[in-house]
Amino acid sequence: GAASTSGPTIFEKIISKDIPATIVYEDDTSLAFRDINPQAPVHFLVIPKQRGRLTQLSKGNEQDEQLVGHLMMIASKVAKQEGLDQGFRVVINDGPQGCQSVYHLHLHVLGGRQLTWPPG
Ligand code: 5GP
Repeated sequence: GAASTSGPTIFEKIISKDIPATIVYEDDTSLAFRDINPQAPVHFLVIPKQRGRLTQLSKGNEQDEQLVGHLMMIASKVAKQEGLDQGFRVVINDGPQGCQSVYHLHLHVLGGRQLTWPPG
């Protein structure tokens, strides 16, 4: 869909709890919540909480390494918590050709059914 690549996103309102989301994990720096339009029986997003910090993976630099690593470990931890012991997929959509629609970095975690490869 159409995407605004600058300014606050809907995820900031989820972080501030101004709009509801089903939160599955939260710590000081990150938040994980269920995707509103799930593409698998389990589909949640893992995002950094700091507003405007990182709009997309390709805008990151060395200072973001720890944060991105942390988000990846949270993805795995919550996948386990969600019972995805048969496997799951972690995806980052980046930019228009990557089908990114929300310009606040997020990891998709999908599972709970047999996934196919390659993706479309
Ligand atoms: P993208 O296309 O940017 O990789 O992924 C954005 C994701 O955010 C989509 O899967 C979309 O369903 C999800 N999303 C968009 N708005 C909301 C919302 O208000 N609440 C929740 N929980 N998910 C949202």
